[in-house]
Amino acid sequence: MGFEDVLCRFFPKVYTEADFIEKTYSILDKAGFNADNTIASANVCRDEISQTIVSLIRERWGEAFNLSSLAGMFFAGRTALIAGMHHAPIEAGRERYVYYALPHIAIGSGGEIGLCRRKGREKEGSACGALTAFHKEMTGGRVNLSMDNEDVEQSLLKMRLLREIPYGHVPDLLELTRMTHKVIQTDLENALNNIVDKERCDYALMTGIQIHGPNGNYVWPASSYAVINGARQEITF
Ligand SMILES: [Zn+2]
Repeated sequence: MGFEDVLCRFFPKVYTEADFIEKTYSILDKAGFNADNTIASANVCRDEISQTIVSLIRERWGEAFNLSSLAGMFFAGRTALIAGMHHAPIEAGRERYVYYALPHIAIGSGGEIGLCRRKGREKEGSACGALTAFHKEMTGGRVNLSMDNEDVEQSLLKMRLLREIPYGHVPDLLELTRMTHKVIQTDLENALNNIVDKERCDYALMTGIQIHGPNGNYVWPASSYAVINGARQEITF
């Protein structure tokens, strides 16, 4: 099986990153969000191959607030969210925020899950590297759950994701990536629910999984919605 077969099998509906950003912009534009009245925030992995989507967000929405951590986990927390909100434009007394939150995974040209080729490196690398490292610890039978002050984000990642993994089960990288997506969504939406003043602010949360293919990046869109005047509207793709 090659890249296309594996992509179709596990992610039946994908957009190129550029199409995903265009599509979400046009849907949200109709709902009242645009580059002039909205601040966008990006929550993706720190990996340089993940930054292409941030560039596209920036091109469409203007400079974006950076919420990113390893694997795209939402560790930036309340302080970061509130800071981003305070930077939003105010139009007729209303503020608008758009959040893009995506973990990532690579699929190699031969359909290998997790493998990607990086510029200037002969040997194939992995993505997401942080999830791959965690997966390796699990398959090795010993997961270090202490808080390593010299590896804070990876320590937090393991502690947070292990809460979702049934005892004794070792998910493969694909399952682990899907779990990570759910965790990012849950943690970010809980924080937004608690923090956003819906009386005077509208916001949208766009989630999915960023996929690195041999010839470019794709997005598998997942749960996405806007909250306008306090009412939630689902966004479908
Ligand atoms: Zn990563």
